[in-house]
Amino acid sequence: MHYFSISLSVLVACAEGWSHESKGDDWNMGICLTGKKQSPINLDSTTAKRSDYPDPNGAFEKFASVAGKAFTGNVQKGNKTHGFKVNLTPEIDLKDGYSCSQWHCHFKSEHEVDGMQFEGECHLVCHNKLIATGLGPDHLGSPNPDALRVFGVLIKKDDDAADNQQFDSILEAYKIASDEGTEDSVVIPNPDAKSLYRYWGSLTTPECQEIVHWTVFAEPMVISANQWKNVVNSFTKSIDRGNFRNVQELNGRTVVIYENQETSSESQSTTCSENIYLYLGIATIVGLLIAIGMVLFDFLKWYCRIFFD
Ligand SMILES: [Zn+2]
Repeated sequence: MHYFSISLSVLVACAEGWSHESKGDDWNMGICLTGKKQSPINLDSTTAKRSDYPDPNGAFEKFASVAGKAFTGNVQKGNKTHGFKVNLTPEIDLKDGYSCSQWHCHFKSEHEVDGMQFEGECHLVCHNKLIATGLGPDHLGSPNPDALRVFGVLIKKDDDAADNQQFDSILEAYKIASDEGTEDSVVIPNPDAKSLYRYWGSLTTPECQEIVHWTVFAEPMVISANQWKNVVNSFTKSIDRGNFRNVQELNGRTVVIYENQETSSESQSTTCSENIYLYLGIATIVGLLIAIGMVLFDFLKWYCRIFFD
């Protein structure tokens, strides 16, 4: 599906002249300024609504089918893309009506969790195939708020952590990435998350269209202090790092938390099987005590007959 790539080029061309210098606070244009469903936002775990149901978008399964795997693409960095970006060739078909054309990373993170900003955040961008086919290059202007589904993976530095091989793939690809793009194969980061945040929002770069159904995984992918140092030392400042927009107002939107039902049912079945072993153990001990009691009772009966009859 080439419409999306074409429209992205149009978007980039139209949006020339903006930068991340003021973290988006100087984007005094259109919906970036007037929109009421802008992204990123602070994801507040205390006010978000926890759902007891599985995620209707099936984001855990969809993302698990691509995360941690290497996909080929045209890898860019610099002014044209405002950061590290992999244009997937071919696109990844999620088999649910959505197709992913590219992923890219922000350093530091765009979304915050409970007021905390992380070292980075990567976005896998997937478009509704019907909308993209119907509207062609204009599909970013679609009024459908579900035109794009973006998966966000937060990246967190942990001073005690070992190097993360998946993140090494990004660091290696960055070295050979170029403004025009270089063919490479890069691993999509896998947070292996147990829960996710879902809300309606926007693109986080001009023209900030409010057409994104956001999925941000709650647990971050962890990288080492050394890997973060590598980003700080090698990624171009204010272009490939420092390329995040400040958090926007929630304006009454609902943020929903979905749990990964597979991991929670696994832990439930673990608890269940642990309980079964406990009950079996107790039943065996009780059975043994009864058997010993009966043998003792029979012995006493025999003893009394022999010596007292
Ligand atoms: Zn992004």
